[in-house]
Amino acid sequence: MHRRTFLTIAILGSLSFAMPTIFSHQIMTVNGPIPAHKMGITLPHEHITTDFTGAELVKQPQYEMEGAAVGILPYLLELKALGCTALFECTPNYIGRDVRLLKALSERSGIDIVTNTGYYAAVNYKYLPKHFYEESAEQLSKRWIDEWKHGIDGTGIRPGFIKIGVNKAPLSEHERKLVEAAAITHLQTGLTIAIHTGDGPAAAEELEWLMSKGVAPEAMIWVHAQNDKDDDHYLTDLARMGVWISLDGVNAKPLQLKRYLYQLQSMRAEGLLNRVLISHDDGWAVRSVEKEGKKSIELSLFDNGNRVPYHTIFSKLVPNLLSSGFTRRDIKQIMVKNPRHAYMIRVRKK
Ligand SMILES: [Zn+2]
Repeated sequence: MHRRTFLTIAILGSLSFAMPTIFSHQIMTVNGPIPAHKMGITLPHEHITTDFTGAELVKQPQYEMEGAAVGILPYLLELKALGCTALFECTPNYIGRDVRLLKALSERSGIDIVTNTGYYAAVNYKYLPKHFYEESAEQLSKRWIDEWKHGIDGTGIRPGFIKIGVNKAPLSEHERKLVEAAAITHLQTGLTIAIHTGDGPAAAEELEWLMSKGVAPEAMIWVHAQNDKDDDHYLTDLARMGVWISLDGVNAKPLQLKRYLYQLQSMRAEGLLNRVLISHDDGWAVRSVEKEGKKSIELSLFDNGNRVPYHTIFSKLVPNLLSSGFTRRDIKQIMVKNPRHAYMIRVRKK
C-alpha cells in the first residue's frame, strides 16, 4: 500500500480509540501473574530453546529436560547477577516452545520468564501445523484463548503475550489470517501482540489490519524492527502512532553495536525513547548430530554474534549508550519502564 494512504487510514483509525483503555497492570509469567511494577530490568525478546526441525515432524522437545536445564541455568544466574529480573521467551508453539523447561528454569534462577501463544508463518510456513490451513482466524484464536484460559498442554502455565511471525510485505492470505487470529485473541484476553516482521511495509500492513479489527497500536510490538531501512522512516512513523519498536538483535559485532547506537540515538532525537525495546534474540537451537554413526541431540547457541547469551546489552551496549550522552534515566526508560508498558495485560473497559 502507498505509505500516505496507510497513514491516512491509520490516523482515521486512531480516532476510534477515544474510548479510554484501562490496564489491569499485570504481567503473566510462567509462574502466574505479577504486578507490572514488580518487573525490573527486562530482556523483552529472547529464546531459551528453539527447534528448527519444522512443525509436527518430530516429537518435541527432542532433548531431555534435566540436561537442558542444568546446561542453561548458569547463564540465567549470571543474568540475574547483572540485575535483570525478567525475560520474555519468544519461541512459538511448533518451533520448540517448551513451557515445562521455562518453568523449571524460572524457579531455579529466580528470573521471571514469560511464554507466548500463537504461530510463526515466516520461513515458507515451515512452522505452521496442518490445522492452520483448515481453520478460520476465529477457530485459531479459540485455541490460543483456550491456552490463556486453561493453560498450555495441561500444565496450567499461561501465555503472557501473543507471538506470531510473518514475512515481508505484501502479507499473504495466510499471514493476514494469522494477524486476524492475533487481533481476536488480543481483544478477548488483553495480551500484547508481538509480530516477527520481514520489513517496514509489512509492519505498516499489520498495523492497518489490526486497527481495522479494533486493536490499538499500543498493543502491537514490531519484532526485528532493527532490519528496517533508515530512509523509509517506518520506525519513527509507527512509533509515533504508538507501536512498540523492538530492536532485538543486539550483538557484539562492532559494526552492529554502532548500528543499534545510531538507531537509539535517532529515536531519542525524535523524542520516541518511550516506544523502544532492546534485546539480544539469543538462545539455543536443537541440533541433531551424528558422531561415529550414532545420532544424538545437542543444544547449541544461535550463531548470532553473541558468544555469551543475554550479555552484550549489559557489557557493551549500555556502556556505549552512557558514554554517548544517554542518561541512566534513559536506560531505565528503555529497559524497565518500556517492557512493563509493552507487555502489561490490557483490558478495555466495556
Ligand atoms: Zn526471536
